Amino acid sequence: MGKDILSKEETIFSLIIDGKIPSYKLYEDEFVIAILDINPFSPGHALVIPKEAAKTLDKLSSKSASAIGAILPKISRAILDVTGAKEFNVLQNNGVNAYQSVFHVHFHIIPKYEDGRGLQFPFQSSPINHDEAIILSKKIYQHILEGT
Ligand code: 5GP
Repeated sequence: MGKDILSKEETIFSLIIDGKIPSYKLYEDEFVIAILDINPFSPGHALVIPKEAAKTLDKLSSKSASAIGAILPKISRAILDVTGAKEFNVLQNNGVNAYQSVFHVHFHIIPKYEDGRGLQFPFQSSPINHDEAIILSKKIYQHILEGT
């Protein structure tokens, strides 16, 4: 569906939540909806979406965060049971450079099959810099304590 039909605050997910466009619905409650991804990495690839229209996870209210956190394991279990996959990834992108394409928070649940279908990662990491880690961990710890 073209982005040009969306108003400024709307996303494709708000239209799905409002029932204005169809989806393959897996779950719905007061705060959360879960649907199949229209362009899946593997069969059963689902999107778990808070109804609250926060653009990124850091903007999401505690109420919606609690609701989504509580339901993720249950939806994951159902997807595993039904697809037969034994492993899965949970992916959550925030921002264009972090591969977010729909600006309404969502969690991907992506079954990983024994034949390799699922999320493919070119993970790149390097050993932690301990001098930097000491400073960073203290600052973030303090920031969380101060209630940001
Ligand atoms: P993101 O890249 O933002 O983390 O993921 C957005 C996801 O939404 C993509 O995997 C994409 O396939 C999915 N998507 C985009 N438009 C639609 C739609 O209209 N319906 C459904 N079910 N999924 C969509």
